[in-house]
Amino acid sequence: MTQKENSGQISLEAKSPFELRINQNEGLSESEVQNALATGEMGFLHSFTTGSTVDGPGVRVVAWTTGCQFRCLYCHNPDTWKMSNGIPVTIERATGELKKYRSGLKIMGGGFTLSGGEPLMQDRFAVRLLTAAKKIGIHTALDTNGAFGKRLSDEELENIDLVLLDIKSWENDRHKQITGVGIAPVLEFAERLASLKKKVWLRFVLVPGLSDNTDDISNIARFAAGLGNVERVDVLPFHQLGEFKWKELGLKYSLQGSEPPSSETLRLVCEQFRSAGLRTY
Ligand code: SF4
Repeated sequence: MTQKENSGQISLEAKSPFELRINQNEGLSESEVQNALATGEMGFLHSFTTGSTVDGPGVRVVAWTTGCQFRCLYCHNPDTWKMSNGIPVTIERATGELKKYRSGLKIMGGGFTLSGGEPLMQDRFAVRLLTAAKKIGIHTALDTNGAFGKRLSDEELENIDLVLLDIKSWENDRHKQITGVGIAPVLEFAERLASLKKKVWLRFVLVPGLSDNTDDISNIARFAAGLGNVERVDVLPFHQLGEFKWKELGLKYSLQGSEPPSSETLRLVCEQFRSAGLRTY
């Protein structure tokens, strides 16, 4: 049995993305990985989960890809950073997985969300899977940090009904402090999505002492409101659910002891977005 066939035996389904999963494609050669990335015939997934109600409208099936170029200090899934931690999954297998849920998703007004990690690290696979989902009549959403938005053509974006776009900070230096990289490509992608009138849900992770600067948030709110295509803003309170993964992976976690935002802080931040004319959740 080849490695690829063998990997087909690993269960794709996880109870939640908080399951720690590492080294699931051990043995795959570099040329097989490169070929997969170039053609999209195969992708690398942490898992599939079902029943999410927070990753797009209705009830969602979510595929969690591996590979991310950001290093967010609050990342709750650092096991998705390395693509080699993912299960190699052919496009046929991934599409087959979606077909199992097609009728249920339609009944529940839900759909499929491709998340990660950063799905556009595997842009060819992302395009093929989202296109396949669309073709079988499933609502599609892409959850992305936006930095590789240029990898998608306008035509390819047509197969994505909704983009869940993360904006981590407004100030470039703070964005770098939080993620390790600059903000410019993210904002460029946001503007391009606006010019294409693509529906966007903006996601903003609120971490006390890190991303809660009032001016920063006002600037994000003004920018988002000016785009005209942002349907809602999800203000996501920081939590410590992923802390154990940092420990298990031997990574230095700098937010040890950081508290989630208080309900009052959360309310005030939501109010900042609302006063710019945006809906928040
Ligand atoms: S973009 Fe998402 S997956 Fe990547 S490091 Fe940040 S929080 Fe983690």
